[in-house]
Amino acid sequence: MGSGQVTDWQGRHVTVAGLGVSGVPAAKVLHARGAIVTVVNDGDDARAREQAAELEALGVTVRLGDGATLPEGTELVVTAPGWKPDKPLFQAARAAGVEIWGDVELAWRLRGPDAAPWLAVTGTNGKTTTVQMLASILKAAGLRTAAVGNIGVSLLDAVLGDEEYDVLAVELSSYQLHWAPSLRAHSAAVLNLAPDHLDWHGSMEAYAKDKGRIYEGNRVACVYNVADKLTEDLVREADVEEGCRAVGFTLGTPGPSQLGVVDGILVDRAFVENRQKNAQELAEVSDVNPPAPHNIANALAAAALARAFGVPPTAVRDGLRAFTPDAHRIAHVADVDGVSYVDDSKATNTHAAEASLASYESIVWIAGGLAKGATFDELVAKSAKRLRGAVLIGADRALIREALARHAPEVPVVDLDRTDTGAMLAAVQEARRLAAAGDTVLLAPACASMDMFANYNKRGDAFAQAVRELGA
Ligand code: ADP
Repeated sequence: MGSGQVTDWQGRHVTVAGLGVSGVPAAKVLHARGAIVTVVNDGDDARAREQAAELEALGVTVRLGDGATLPEGTELVVTAPGWKPDKPLFQAARAAGVEIWGDVELAWRLRGPDAAPWLAVTGTNGKTTTVQMLASILKAAGLRTAAVGNIGVSLLDAVLGDEEYDVLAVELSSYQLHWAPSLRAHSAAVLNLAPDHLDWHGSMEAYAKDKGRIYEGNRVACVYNVADKLTEDLVREADVEEGCRAVGFTLGTPGPSQLGVVDGILVDRAFVENRQKNAQELAEVSDVNPPAPHNIANALAAAALARAFGVPPTAVRDGLRAFTPDAHRIAHVADVDGVSYVDDSKATNTHAAEASLASYESIVWIAGGLAKGATFDELVAKSAKRLRGAVLIGADRALIREALARHAPEVPVVDLDRTDTGAMLAAVQEARRLAAAGDTVLLAPACASMDMFANYNKRGDAFAQAVRELGA
C-alpha cells in the first residue's frame, strides 16, 4: 500500500482485527469509503454480538469467535493496537506479504492533505498528564487543538471529524507505535523508559524500539529526558528530517538545547537565539500542578513540544497554570490531624510509584494489588529512607513485604490479609496509626487494582471515602 495517503479504497479487501473501541469505527470508515471489510474477533460474547449486528446492518461481514484465520483475498489488515504481534492472523498476513496497520496508522493514512500536524508523546509514565498539559499550553496560545489518542479520544474521530485543528497533542502507547510504521510527527517526546508490557513486546529492547518509533521522521524536535539515557539513545538511532534537533529536558540547570530548572524557574535554552548564552524564562515551578519532581519533568516535556511548535513563553506559563490533573494522580484528599492524605491510585507500576514516593519526605505508604510480574527491590531500596511505615493490601502484597524486609527492615509494616473492597478502610485506619503530624499517607500501590477493585478509579475512590470517614 506504499507509505502515503490512500485515497482509493473502492473494492479493496480489508480485514479489521478486533471489534471494540478502535475496530468498530475503523470498519465503518473503511466500508463507507468503498472497501470490502471483514471484521474478525476472538470473542463471541453479548457485547461482541451487539457490535457485530450494528456492523452487519451496514453491510460489513463479521466473523465472531475466530480471530486466527486470515480471510481469503485480504489486501490489508487493520488491527486493534492491543493484539499481540505473534498472533497466527499476523503470521499469515506477513507470510502473504499483507501490511498490518494499527488504529494510529489508519488515522495517519486517512487524514486530509492539509491536516493538522501532530505533537506526539509516549513514555512508560506521565503520557496522559503531559499531553493534557501540552493541549492546555497550545490553547493558551490561541491554537485550535485537542488531546487525543491513547487518552481515550479516538484519533480517527479527531482526524476525520468536522472540527478543525491547527495542531494535535497525541498520546501514543507502545502498542500503537508498534503498528504505526509510517507515522511522522512534527515533534515528539519519550518521557521515560522502564520495563513494562514486556510480555507483549517480548523484550525490553523490543519495547524500547517500538517507543523509539515516535521519533522517526520528526521535522523540528526530538524531545528526550536527560536523566534517562535510554530516551536519548532512541533519538540518536532515529532517522529524522534534515535540521530536526535533539532537545533534552532536565530537573537540573539546562545546557544548550535543553529545558530545565534554575532557582525555581522553568527555563528554555533550546528555542532561543544564541543558546550558548541566552535562556528564556517560561514559568515558575509553582505554576505546575502538582509541583512534584516527576510532574515538573512532564511540564518541561510539554513546554519543549509547544516551543518546538513556536508557542510563546507566556502561553507556556498560562497553559500550565490552567491545567488541572485528572483524578487519582497525586490528588490531595484531605488533612486529618496534621497528616496529609494523597491518592495516587494511578501509580499502577513500580516506576510510577517511585516518582510518587520521591515527592514526599516522610510517608506512610499504602501499596499492593496485582504485581503483573514486577519486582519491588529497587523501588523499596530507593524509597526506604522516606518511609515512616507501610500498609500492604491485595493479592501480591507478599512480594512487597519481602522487599521491605530486605531493604527497609526497620520500617514497620502492617500486612492486611484481605482483598475485599472494605479492606481500604482498614488500610487507612492502620496508616493513620502509623503516621505522625507532618507525614503524608500516600496511596501509590505500584500494582494494578483488579484483584480488589473494578479499576484504579474505584480504588482511589475507596481511599478517599475511607479518609472522609476518618475525618468525620
Ligand atoms: P500514563 O498516561 O503514561 O499512564 P499518567 O499521566 O496517567 O501517565 O500518570 C500515571 C502515573 O504515573 C501517575 O499517577 C504518577 O504516579 C506517575 N507519573 C506521572 N508522570 C511521571 C513521570 N514523568 N515519571 C514517573 N512517573 C510518573
